[in-house]
Order: sequence, then structure tokens, then C-alpha cells
Amino acid sequence: MSGRPVPSATRAVIGGSGSLAAGLPADVHPDSTVLETGLVFDTPWGESPPFTLFELGGQRALHVAMHGWRKGVSRGRASRQVFSVLHRAGVRRILSDAGVGSLNRLLDPGDLVVVDDFVDMTTDRDRYGVVAGDHLLIMRDPVCPTGRQALLDAARRHAPDRRLFTRGTYVVTEGPRFESPAETRHLQMLGDVVGQSFCPEVWLARDIDACYAGLYLIVNYGEGVVRDWEHEVLARHFHEDAALVGRIVLDALAALPADADCGCRDLRKPTLLT
Ligand SMILES: [Zn+2]
Repeated sequence: MSGRPVPSATRAVIGGSGSLAAGLPADVHPDSTVLETGLVFDTPWGESPPFTLFELGGQRALHVAMHGWRKGVSRGRASRQVFSVLHRAGVRRILSDAGVGSLNRLLDPGDLVVVDDFVDMTTDRDRYGVVAGDHLLIMRDPVCPTGRQALLDAARRHAPDRRLFTRGTYVVTEGPRFESPAETRHLQMLGDVVGQSFCPEVWLARDIDACYAGLYLIVNYGEGVVRDWEHEVLARHFHEDAALVGRIVLDALAALPADADCGCRDLRKPTLLT
């Protein structure tokens, strides 16, 4: 089964904790048509996680749940499996989501943030492998401006009463645990939200010549930020907002222009190393 060829698709959704509790894509978007589910492919880094192939807005797209993470596979390896599949499918536009913690004290649980920058604080070198590996990856504008705008427009349509932040810096940590108060104070100097999924996805997307943007749902305060967070609040957002987050991401995916002049292609240059 896993020896099958990867079907062609131009778009992809890398689902995260923000949409995990919803049944993407079929249960959250009435116009999506699921073509195949449970698609597992061989990759140079082992068998991929299961993908769903679907059609939305006249485009074929792949969906993978929870960043492809699963027990027994390191996150770096899982990311390379996912991007190896997206690369072979010919995917050029990727949207993602995640539940994240706050670092900026202006943020509250339930807020939505479309970030435009990141700081990678991970140290696991296994996260640092590339898929294509033949280009210089420039991180001047790491997040696709067209993808960000599509997410912002869709969020305003579907959640007009939510606070929506149009920029921010995502600090990426290793997990699987949350941060200590002292770590949070340190990370507050670096960015606005903290989570574990943005890297390596953002630069693996550039590695395979695809655009990348994400929608982030605040599910807890960072330790020592504003006040102690509550598990019930985190669980409520995790469950009750999943369909909303999924709907925003899918609507944004459908709205993405086929040929946007976003500038991402100019930030990937042939490597000078041989
Ligand atoms: Zn782009």
C-alpha cells in the first residue's frame, strides 16, 4: 500500500492542535470533496503519516493531521516525511494551524494570531534535515504574505467577534513539556507566542518551493504571563474552536489565488555550495 505513487496536488493543509478535534476536511467545509483517505507513502525517512486527498475550490489538496507527529517517530523525521510527500505531489501552497501559548501580555486565550516571523529555539539536530536541499533558504519574509492575507480575511468572515492579531513572532520550542516561568520570561524578549510546530515546517516549505502561512489560536497563557492558565479553558478552546479554526484554514486555502505574486519564490536561491 505504501509503495503507491504520490497523487498530484497543488495545495496542502498541515493540521495542528488548533483543528485536531474537528474532522478535516469533510466535516468542516461543505464544499470540500474527499477523494481518498488513509494515504500512506514510502519516503527516504520511512513511511509517511496518513494523508487525505481532497478537492476544494477546483484545486486538489492534501491534508495531514497534527503535523504528522506520532509515537515512535521523531518530530524531525515526521516533518521530513510530510514534506517529502508534499514535494512529490507538487504542492506550492501550504496552510497550517496550531494552539499556542501566549508570551505577549496583550494576548488572551481564544485570540487568533497570524504570525509573520519566528525564532527557532529548538536544539534537536534531527529537526535540521532538509528534503530538497539544493537551495539557499532566505528567511527575510518567512511567512507568505498572500497566505497570511487569505487567513486574515477568512478569520474576519468566520469569527468577526474574535480578537485577531495581524502580525506576531512565533517562538518555537522543543516540547513535549510547557515552559517554566523563567524560560517564559526569557522567551518574552523574543516573541509573542510559543509553540512547537512552526519549525521546521516554515523553512521546509521554502526548501520544496512552497508558500507557508499559519493561523494560531491562543489556548493558554505562558507561565507567569497575566495569570495562571486553566486546564478547562485550554480544553474548551481545543475542542470548541477546532471546527472554527479548520473552517478558516480551509476557506483561506480555497481563496488562495493560483498564481500570486507573493515574493516567496525570490527568497529561494540556488546554493553556492556543492
Ligand atoms: Zn508566497
